[in-house]
Amino acid sequence: MYRCEHCKEVVGPRIAINRTVVETRPVKYPVREKVNRARHPRTGRIIFVDDHGGEGHETVRELALCARCATAARSA
Ligand SMILES: [Zn+2]
Repeated sequence: MYRCEHCKEVVGPRIAINRTVVETRPVKYPVREKVNRARHPRTGRIIFVDDHGGEGHETVRELALCARCATAARSA
């Protein structure tokens, strides 16, 4: 059971929650040298490889919505 964070109605038991992302922000991760352990493909020895970093989006805020509100939020 949970309460929809949009229409404030209580949803009964055994009904799946719809966690809907409503706000994201862009994020960049820097390159980090020699931080990940791996095996050398030929020798099998443990080596340290670089993390290439990257960019994307991360969630800032999400809401627990009932099925009706989640459908409306997705189509909007
Ligand atoms: Zn709702």
